[in-house]
Amino acid sequence: MKLNVSEALSHPGQEYRFNDTQAIADQEIGGDTVRLDDCTVEGTFLSDEDGNISVKGTIRTTAHAPCAKCLEEASAEVYNEFDETFLRNGDMEDDEIFAYEGHQVEMEKLVMSYAVMALPIRFLCREDCPGLEYRDPDVAPAEPGIQYPFAGLQQLLENNEEV
Ligand SMILES: [Zn+2]
Repeated sequence: MKLNVSEALSHPGQEYRFNDTQAIADQEIGGDTVRLDDCTVEGTFLSDEDGNISVKGTIRTTAHAPCAKCLEEASAEVYNEFDETFLRNGDMEDDEIFAYEGHQVEMEKLVMSYAVMALPIRFLCREDCPGLEYRDPDVAPAEPGIQYPFAGLQQLLENNEEV
């Protein structure tokens, strides 16, 4: 998403509201692929006398990744607040700053970095997920006889008592 800042540049100090969505690419984190729904971004921006654009607001989305315990799909709400300044004609390649040229501020990098910052350390399908071994009780049928290893011995003892 882009913010058109033409008006703001002509009226320094005047706040403008915005509300848009930003698609975010899948993220590879700790060997897992984290998929994010389109991010809702809303807030305000204003220009200073030098044309630097201050943008503040919130991002909101839902992230999806495998559950850390059972690997089923898990989701997490993602929310973050930002307050950044895009430097006019700053170095667009510099990862340490936000910059823009012309009359449009590209929000993708900001939204992506604030969304990634707000991701949970691990995803769980539910708070008390017991993990893989209990995921499906039908997966591990006991072999006949295994449950009662001493059944034969018991039989032998009973036979002896009868004698
Ligand atoms: Zn789970």
